Amino acid sequence: DLLRVSELESGSIRVGSSEIQIDDMLSEIREAYAAIAESKSIALTLDAPPRLPLLRGDRDHIELAIQNLIGNAIKYTPEGGSVALRADGDEREFSLDVVDTGIGISPEESALVFDKFYRSGDDRVHESEGSGLGLALAREIARLHGGDITLESELNRGSRFTLRLPTDRAA
Ligand code: ATP
Ligand code: MG
Repeated sequence: DLLRVSELESGSIRVGSSEIQIDDMLSEIREAYAAIAESKSIALTLDAPPRLPLLRGDRDHIELAIQNLIGNAIKYTPEGGSVALRADGDEREFSLDVVDTGIGISPEESALVFDKFYRSGDDRVHESEGSGLGLALAREIARLHGGDITLESELNRGSRFTLRLPTDRAA
């Protein structure tokens, strides 16, 4: 992950630019995380309108960004909780909310979680492994595509991470 963040930051790697059917990608990712969610008795749901806009960009990187958000949501949500993926889009912009009922993030830490190597001091975070790079990488990827990731959270209640990406204008 560190290598990838550095490469992306320095612009030293080529990022792909293909047409992305984001609805298919989301179904596949949900499918891939179904078993791990189930093993924690977490309800993982995907809500998307019948049609989502086409995106253009680096498929693997966008997939990685979304995986990081979903992986975190499952990792930082105690057993019995839920993780909801809500996709939406218009001709301008695609958005994905990853909403969990997990441990949440305090207002002071919300500004820090996108920093490289930052992990919360919360004991519940240290119950699982992590290097603190996933969100830095995900945000870098979103920004390289002209989008961003934002966060709203309440400690002990849950978090909502929102990924926004511009749509493929040529489509
Ligand atoms: P890595 O992703 O590198 O394996 P990580 O999950 O600790 O490790 P990030 O994904 O960058 O690193 O997240 C940084 C920190 O933000 C986490 O350690 C945790 O404190 C907090 N965090 C991220 N997502 C959530 C979430 N959904 N709920 C609560 N806290 C979160
Ligand atoms: Mg992570």
